[in-house]
Amino acid sequence: MPRLTVVVPAYNESAVLAAFHERLSKVLDQLPLDCDVLYIDDGSRDDTWTIMQSLATADPRVGTLKLSRNFGKEAALTAGLDHVDADAAVVIDADLQDPPELIPQLVEQWRAGYDVVYATRSARAGETGFKRFTASAFYRAMEIMSDVAVPRDTGDFRLLSRRALAALSQLRERQRFMKGLFAWIGYRQTAVKYMRDPRLAGKTKWNYWRLTQLAIEGITSFSSAPLKLATWTGLAASVLAFLFGLKVLLKALLHGDPVPGYPSLMVVVLFLGGIQLLALGVIGEYLGRNYNETKQRPLYFIEEEHLPATRTTIHTEATPQR
Ligand code: UDP
Ligand code: MG
Repeated sequence: MPRLTVVVPAYNESAVLAAFHERLSKVLDQLPLDCDVLYIDDGSRDDTWTIMQSLATADPRVGTLKLSRNFGKEAALTAGLDHVDADAAVVIDADLQDPPELIPQLVEQWRAGYDVVYATRSARAGETGFKRFTASAFYRAMEIMSDVAVPRDTGDFRLLSRRALAALSQLRERQRFMKGLFAWIGYRQTAVKYMRDPRLAGKTKWNYWRLTQLAIEGITSFSSAPLKLATWTGLAASVLAFLFGLKVLLKALLHGDPVPGYPSLMVVVLFLGGIQLLALGVIGEYLGRNYNETKQRPLYFIEEEHLPATRTTIHTEATPQR
C-alpha cells in the first residue's frame, strides 16, 4: 500500500494538539493508505513535547522530533520533510486552521497524477480587513517582481509527491521562504479550495513584525527587482537633479543670484540623501542574506527523535548537510 506521512510543525501548541490529533486520526483511519504522522516540536516552551510523547504512546503511527531550540516554522517543516520516507507527504498546521478533513481530496489529486497539491483558502475567517489587505498586496508584489508565481491565498498546507519531496530536499538555502520553494520546484501542481477556519485555541505567532519579515524574505529570496529599483530610482533622481542644476545655473547667469538658494539646496540634499539611504538599505538586505548563506550552517539541530513505530524502513540522516 502507498505510504503517506503527515508532517506537523508545532510551537507552543499544547492547547490544541490533542484535539488536532483526534481529528487527524479520524481522517487517516478512512484513507486507503499506510499513514503515519510526524510531529515536530520547534523548541516549545510549554508542554507540547510531553503531549506529543503521550500521543506517540497511544498511537503507533505517531513519530516525534524535537528541535534543539525554536528555529521557526520553515526550519521545523524542513526538519520534518527531511525525515519523511513515504510516497507522499502532507504538510499541515497544528492549530486546526487547515482542516485535516481536506486530506482525502489532496490525496485524490495526487492519485490523479499531481506532484504538488496545495490547498487554497476561499475565505479568511477570523482575520481583520487590514490583514487581508496586506496579504493581498504582498501576493501582488510577488507576482510582479519574481519569476515564480506563488499561488495566492495558499499557506503551507499541501501534499507533496515523492519526487517533489526529493526536489525540495535539495534546496538547502538558509533563507527559506517555503511557499516560494514549493512553487519553484515545478512539476505538476494543482489547487484544492477550502474555507479557512479561525484558530481553535492558542494564538498566532505571526504578528505584523514577523509577517513583514516574511514578506521581505519572500521578495528578496525570489527576486532581485528591488536592487534594480534602487538603480533606476537613483538614475531618475540624478537626471532630475542634473536638469534642476542646469536651471539654477542658467537663472544665476541671467539674473544673478540675489537669494542664497537655501530651500532648493535643502530639498536636493535631503532627497538625494533619502534615495541613497534607501538604496543602501536594499543592498544591505541582500548582503545580509548572502552572508547568512555563505556561513553554510545546518538548518536545524535535532535533540530527540522517535520515528513512528509502524514505519518499516528508517531514514537515519538526522541533520542532512549539503
Ligand atoms: N510554528 C512553528 N514554529 C514557529 C512558529 C509556528 O513550528 O516558530 C507552527 C505552529 O505551531 C503552527 C504552524 O507553525 O502549527 C502555523 O503557525 P501559526 O498558526 O502561528 O501561523 P498562522 O496560521 O497564523 O499563519
Ligand atoms: Mg495558524
